[in-house]
Formats: sequence, C-alpha cells, structure tokens
Amino acid sequence: MATKGVFRVECPHCGEGFDADFWTVVRGDRDAEVKELILSGEFDILMCPKCEKLFQHEEPFLYLDPGRDLLAFVMPESYLEKKDEWIARMKKDYEPVRATLTAGQGVTGEPLYLFGLAPLTLLLETDRDREEETEVMEFIAREDGLQLLPVQPAAARELDLPFTLPMPAGLSGRAAALKAAQDLRAKNDALPRLKRLVDALAAAKGEEIAFLKK
Ligand SMILES: [Zn+2]
Repeated sequence: MATKGVFRVECPHCGEGFDADFWTVVRGDRDAEVKELILSGEFDILMCPKCEKLFQHEEPFLYLDPGRDLLAFVMPESYLEKKDEWIARMKKDYEPVRATLTAGQGVTGEPLYLFGLAPLTLLLETDRDREEETEVMEFIAREDGLQLLPVQPAAARELDLPFTLPMPAGLSGRAAALKAAQDLRAKNDALPRLKRLVDALAAAKGEEIAFLKK
C-alpha cells in the first residue's frame, strides 16, 4: 500500500518548477523495491525535466513494517531546526489514525520520529544485519532440532539481539533457552548477537524471558 503524493518542487540547478511524486507511506514488509531505494540512497531522487540534472528532495513520509514492529515518521533533515514543533505536530496527526495503524497490524511500540533518511537507513541496515545473523543462527539451531521463538523486535533493537531465540522442543523458560544459546555459541562464535543473547539470558533472573514476543 505504498502511497504517493504530488508536491511542487523547484530544481536547485536551473530553478525550474515542476510537480513530482513522493512516497507518503512506505510499507517496509511489502514494498521491497522502495525499501531498496532507501537502502541504496536513491529514495526521493528527482530528475529535473528541463536541465535533466538529478537532485534529492525530501518530503515527510511514514515508514511502516508491522512484522518488525516499526512505525517511523521520517521528516526532512531541515525540520531539525524546529524539531520539537514538528514532533508535536506529527504526534497530533498520528493520534486519530493510531488505532487504524496499530490495530491488527502488530505494531505495539511507540512511533519513531526521524529527521532525514540517514537514521532510517542506519536502522534498516542494522536490521538487515540482524536478519542475516538470525538466519545463520536459525540454520544451526534447526540442525540441532531446536525450535525458534520470536523476540520482540523493539527489544531485539534495544539490546541488539537476534530476532529469534532458540529453545529445545517441548521446553520453555530462561534456563533452557540459556543452555540452547550457549550450545549454539559453542558451535559458532562468530555471531555477536548470539553472544549478547547468551549474556542477556545469563544476566536475567527467574524463568521468565522478558524480551520474548507475547
Ligand atoms: Zn533543472
């Protein structure tokens, strides 16, 4: 459901004014091509119809990826000057649509307010690294017959953990998960997030695993 809006822009090279399409909503889980444009730095690059030079023009947009519990308001970097004002405005605009955007969509966390594409690109790159590392970990976990339980994406980002947690089949609780994670780490010590998972499980108390998806 990537959605576009039309805005009037002015070419910084020759001053020509023209109407251009911009993404207003990007679904990270569905619009793979648009996500690639963000990661490759080609998002919102325009070509002037008169002088044919390329330039970037930012307009605010919403980045939504319910499966990854990600909802971000991405504003032009220039809005940083009046950061608080813009965040207040975005929050006000968000309230009436909060229910629609979060209900049944799996988005539970508070939205992020980002300025410029750089913080979003960094977040998506880090998530992609995390996905790759999670896949490697899952591969060795499956060879050992372990099941994989989803970690809350927001907690995975905050604690820099894999997106899933290995668990021996039929078991639950922190001690069993810690043993499974330690065994996997003994087989592959080149996974930094698996190491942090071992550390996080070892440091916790009780049998509950706070960062698992409910
Ligand atoms: Zn131009």
